[in-house]
Amino acid sequence: MMASQRQITVGGVPIGGGAPVAVQTMTKTETANLPATMEQIHRVAEAGADLVRVAVPRESDVEALRTIVGESPIPVIADIHFNHTLALKAIDAGAHCVRLNPGNIGGPDKVAEVVARARAAGTPMRIGVNSGSLPKHLHELERADPVEALVTAATEFVTLMERLEFEDFKVSIKSTNVPNTIASNRMLAERIPYPLHLGITEAGTKWSGSLKSSVGLGTLLADGIGDTIRISLSTFHAEEEVKVAWEILKALGLRQRGPVLIACPTCGRLQFDMDRVVAEIERRLEAYEDPIEVAVLGCAVNGIGEASHADFGITGAKNEGLIFSRGQALRKVPQDELVDALFVEIDKYVKARRVVSDEGAASEGAEWLAAIEAENAGELTPERLAAMEAAAADDERADLDLVSALEPAAQIDEEASPVAGRRFSRS
Ligand code: SF4
Repeated sequence: MMASQRQITVGGVPIGGGAPVAVQTMTKTETANLPATMEQIHRVAEAGADLVRVAVPRESDVEALRTIVGESPIPVIADIHFNHTLALKAIDAGAHCVRLNPGNIGGPDKVAEVVARARAAGTPMRIGVNSGSLPKHLHELERADPVEALVTAATEFVTLMERLEFEDFKVSIKSTNVPNTIASNRMLAERIPYPLHLGITEAGTKWSGSLKSSVGLGTLLADGIGDTIRISLSTFHAEEEVKVAWEILKALGLRQRGPVLIACPTCGRLQFDMDRVVAEIERRLEAYEDPIEVAVLGCAVNGIGEASHADFGITGAKNEGLIFSRGQALRKVPQDELVDALFVEIDKYVKARRVVSDEGAASEGAEWLAAIEAENAGELTPERLAAMEAAAADDERADLDLVSALEPAAQIDEEASPVAGRRFSRS
């Protein structure tokens, strides 16, 4: 599945047609409260939002919109429900995009009026359907097949737009139900060429909402579906939504922004207060823009192991700690100086645009690490167990290759297997 075929541009940000997946969020302030709204917009822009949406439920909000659009560092989308006059005024106020649900704006004539104004102004639109507000004639279908009902509602709106000869829009289908969100967006992506906005409505708190969104949106994005995303979280801090969106995009390798932090899960071999150290590193890394990978290993028993690709990392043992970079020791430091020392090395890298290493300190660090590794050579750490499992799987694959070379009929039909595409082992 490829990204949408069509591309639209929202205030200079391309959406769809293979453009990078755009991150958006929505302010949680009363839009007409200009100082509060502008402060939040600046915060979300700093956190990496490409677009911001503001609710426009009242006259006072649409009056504030012109100033917001003028002062915002990122394009502004006006979110309108039920009132087509507000949509017209939002377009007049210069909104970079207007989001509306054609089903609740007062009938096709009013939609046509908004579309005519949008066309004249060159304003793109987002048309969306929500599982909670499908048109009446689809209620029966919704009970029988909620996914088909959502997709039908969306495609009916698309047809209405096409009849009005307006194609400057993106489409969203939103549901509180993760499987329905996945299934309906997959189906919609097959049926229409327009860019898709993804989101899970009312996803929940920072914790549960982030997880639901990661599963729902991550699944679709991994399939190449979705051109812009919003993570809906029950928090007044809209920048948290932006951070989650970025983590999802970074995890899928779809976009890069700022450092990537990796950390071991910890176990009984832990040698320092990882909870505090990881949280502090994460907080301090927010100030950096380079996509550096930073690893935190709770002990040096395994050496640098799986973190050897990290641009920078720390590990510790016996009140001491090691700063390492790309598989090489940089220097040994007292454990209570680990975090500060790590950032000294990162800052040197950012300034010099290369890892700066001192030969003497590096060989002292390497010796320290080798001694710790030798001392603990017999320890079955999670990393060593994983390495052993991987080696066993390789052996098994080699055995299988041998069997299949000897006897083609013994090959496993991955397609027919109930665990096709997954790792599994046989005794
Ligand atoms: S053995 Fe692995 S999981 Fe346990 S503390 Fe050390 S690095 Fe972390």
